[in-house]
Amino acid sequence: MGGFGSGRRSHNRRNAIDGLPCLDSNIMQRQGVLVNGCHGSVEWPRSTRSLVKFCTDDQRFRLFEQGDNGQHRFLHGLLIVRVPCRYGGSRAYFSCPCVIGGKACGRRVAKLYYDGDQFLCRQCTGLSYRCQSEGPFSRNLRRSDKIRLRLGGPRSSLEPIPPRPKGMWLRTYVRLYDECRRSEQSAKAISAAILPSGPKIIETRARRLKSG
Ligand SMILES: [Zn+2]
Repeated sequence: MGGFGSGRRSHNRRNAIDGLPCLDSNIMQRQGVLVNGCHGSVEWPRSTRSLVKFCTDDQRFRLFEQGDNGQHRFLHGLLIVRVPCRYGGSRAYFSCPCVIGGKACGRRVAKLYYDGDQFLCRQCTGLSYRCQSEGPFSRNLRRSDKIRLRLGGPRSSLEPIPPRPKGMWLRTYVRLYDECRRSEQSAKAISAAILPSGPKIIETRARRLKSG
């Protein structure tokens, strides 16, 4: 079954959203995932746990992470907007949950992109990356590359961080070392979250939730 992370890539905003997993309400609706009472598991590549549970009620699509103790930790709740069709039934959309500069977006969209931290519509992805024109993944790697070069090493995050160059203060080195490691860890966590193609439903059960 194709994941709801599949979909066409945008070319004009390639830097911002290319490679980001995408929840597509059209695909999800076809898969029955947005039906009130549907719940199941999603393969959601993250740094440590890859299994994420979801459940849908009339108004929300919610994602939970299953902890070691069996408890579910709430991750994201996405508002579903159901628009009646002319010939009966309804079509489901998402309401963009993104808040930028204190203002909630709330656009009604079919696709939400996940940037490793939150879900955003196409417009919000553009807004939040407009200044950088690159995603958090490449930003982190660029930062660590710069430090590695400054320490006299190659730009590979697969190699150990180079030792302190002659003449560099220990304090400076410790700061750069920490920053380099942090940036690479963030990039790694993001790449685990956004690669491969995104969330994929591996199991669904259409059981009615308690009515309410
Ligand atoms: Zn938005």
